Amino acid sequence: MTTTQTGPSRIGERTIAEFAAGLRGTAVLPGDAEYDRERSIWNGAHDRRPVVIARCAGVADVIRTVDFARSQGLPLAVRGGGHSIPGFSTVDDGIVLDLSLMRETQVDPERRRVTAQAGCTWKDLDAQTQQFGLAVTGGLMSSTGIAGFTTGGGIGWLMRKHGLACDNMVGADLVTADGRFVHASADEHPDLFWGLRGGGGNFGVVTSFDYQLHEVGSAVLSGLVFYPAQEADRVLRGYRAACAQAPDELTTLVNLTTAPPVPFLPESVHGTPIIAVGGCWCGDPGAGEAATAPFRSLGTVISDVFADNPYAGWQQALDPLYPRGLHNYFRSAFLRTADDPALDVLLDAFATLPNAMTEIHLQHLGGAVGRVPVDATAFALRDQEFIVNVVARTPTAAGFSDVVEWSRAVTSALGPDAATYVNFTGDADAALVRASYPPETYRRLVALKNEYDPTNLFRLNQNIAPSV
Ligand SMILES: Cc1cc2nc3c(=O)[nH]c(=O)nc-3n(C[C@H](O)[C@H](O)[C@H](O)COP(=O)(O)OP(=O)(O)OC[C@H]3O[C@@H](n4cnc5c(N)ncnc54)[C@H](O)[C@@H]3O)c2cc1C
Repeated sequence: MTTTQTGPSRIGERTIAEFAAGLRGTAVLPGDAEYDRERSIWNGAHDRRPVVIARCAGVADVIRTVDFARSQGLPLAVRGGGHSIPGFSTVDDGIVLDLSLMRETQVDPERRRVTAQAGCTWKDLDAQTQQFGLAVTGGLMSSTGIAGFTTGGGIGWLMRKHGLACDNMVGADLVTADGRFVHASADEHPDLFWGLRGGGGNFGVVTSFDYQLHEVGSAVLSGLVFYPAQEADRVLRGYRAACAQAPDELTTLVNLTTAPPVPFLPESVHGTPIIAVGGCWCGDPGAGEAATAPFRSLGTVISDVFADNPYAGWQQALDPLYPRGLHNYFRSAFLRTADDPALDVLLDAFATLPNAMTEIHLQHLGGAVGRVPVDATAFALRDQEFIVNVVARTPTAAGFSDVVEWSRAVTSALGPDAATYVNFTGDADAALVRASYPPETYRRLVALKNEYDPTNLFRLNQNIAPSV
């Protein structure tokens, strides 16, 4: 029997062919014309060669793929939107379970619910829910997959009013490591339901999510206001004060960045350090100008592009700034409060940005995010007022390790023990996973892992290792 030449398992080609023949979707193999496209993910830092990419067309394909990976002892990478920063959704010498053909959604406008297959991106989902003036908290970018995003927590523009994405998940269908198909909700498998809301992809492959939706109407006051880098001290301290007074309907962030060559910024600042404050108001349309005003007068305004935008449009507005294929690394730190020493760290880091692509985001949490009981979901860092995300990028591998080291130094300076957010962690590092959960939450996650995945089939993720 012939074998593929890669991989410790040297799995037989006939075995793969038999597996592929039973899929309703398609299997992409080394040598296929689309292999290079299908093995790539958003983060260009990860160049891996799976033995097969199973493009699943439905639940039966997902069960078949999970069973195949388990029975063959193949490493299994689960891919929703393919935006994993540490590259978990591709793998050398293993199998990629790709959900991107599974993007159906069904909106129930009466009950304000949507059921969405797990291959949807936020762009897919927003388009459907916005048809009815409804939405659920999604990412700051529309190309992110709902699956990895929601199972990790889900920080987005509606969160201070409506909670994280995982707080709005009311049910999920999933395939467990032993190939069972189960529904998790408050009434069925409540332990799994708890773990899926922040515990990442550790417990199975979600095939569809049920979300609670919210009325956001046809437009939200949203946009960016830009200030000079020289005023960073004043802007950051003013931002902190404005956040303390902000209503829940307003979610904001600061981006310490470099001015992109966009028409709404004067050419004189293109390519130079600049501060962008972004925000989204999802409350009474008549009250948005007053609510956003403190954030739009933090210093000398270079440009203010706040406007009434369709929610789905605002969700897509930043997409061009984060193109696919660059080398990317994220490193995060939650801040219980943005005290002066923390702001000083951010100011120092801004003054030493290693290149024009690297950014520091300071996002305001609180509101509805902070009101969920700590033990209600696996995402349990509810008492943190801010999160810092250092987004380090280079066009190619050249210089990438330097910006990674720089990012690690920034978050270390914020406190070596600062908690991290699994969705903003560019490493696969057990210590950082532990730092993403309070000890009691972590203990519950390990117990859940022992029950649902004792052999750690689902280990390409921010891994909760079983203890059995
Ligand atoms: C440009 C960019 C912007 C981002 N913005 C935000 C943001 O605003 N807020 C935020 O909170 N996060 C944000 N993130 C982080 C994002 O939430 C995570 O990278 C997330 O894992 C992406 O989900 P995905 O489905 O696209 O990823 P994938 O790479 O497909 O999957 C990542 C991991 O999620 C798990 N997973 C995927 N699909 C499933 C499934 N069906 N069932 C179970 N587990 C699954 C697996 O463990 C997988 O390894 C952003 C990331 C990028 C790259």
